[in-house]
Amino acid sequence: MFNIGITGGIGTGKTTVCKIFEILGIPVFYADQAAKQVMHEDELLVEEIKSAFGASAYSRAGELDRKYLAGIVFNDEFQLERLNSLVHPAVFRAYDKWKGDQKASYVIKEAALLFESGSYKESDYNVVVTSPLELRIKRIMKRDGISVEQVKARMSKQMSEEEKVKLADFIVKNDESELLIPQVLDLHQTFLQLSKQSQ
Ligand code: ATP
Repeated sequence: MFNIGITGGIGTGKTTVCKIFEILGIPVFYADQAAKQVMHEDELLVEEIKSAFGASAYSRAGELDRKYLAGIVFNDEFQLERLNSLVHPAVFRAYDKWKGDQKASYVIKEAALLFESGSYKESDYNVVVTSPLELRIKRIMKRDGISVEQVKARMSKQMSEEEKVKLADFIVKNDESELLIPQVLDLHQTFLQLSKQSQ
């Protein structure tokens, strides 16, 4: 199955772009949502988390104790990296399974950490959504009801836009000067052609 990765920094509009692809009939796998799901559903991952962080990471009923885990990984780069190195392969497994069930010309994986997780190497092409910093901050403050400092703290944990752009095959500019829908329609036509050529 021909597959496209879509990423971008916080507030650039990745999800908004993916919703437009969905309207065009293209299935989208949201990796960040899937990461939460696999922590409950992937039995191998559950066992790995228990042995890495302690059985207390799950209740007796098998519910993930997010507070317990957050207490370990919050502000500890090493532990966060350790958790991510277990979760990312489980998300890859979930994506492969999901992909096998889709019937479309191509599919999309939306992931905030597409490059950081190495997942971009599995895509046929990768798209980066870009947007000016000020606009991103404004959007996230409005969407999540948080302060400028909180937005900046979240941003500081991500790879810079400049680095992401270097790894992109295609760019979508969501900067309010170029219309978003025509850019997505153009990409859709390109991906339909590329997917045909790859068969
Ligand atoms: P995150 O990394 O936090 O998940 P994201 O990159 O997926 O963010 P979105 O959630 O798509 O970004 O967009 C952030 C906010 O900005 C949303 O409330 C969305 O509705 C709004 N937004 C995005 N693009 C536009 C646009 N072109 N015009 C108006 N509002 C927009």
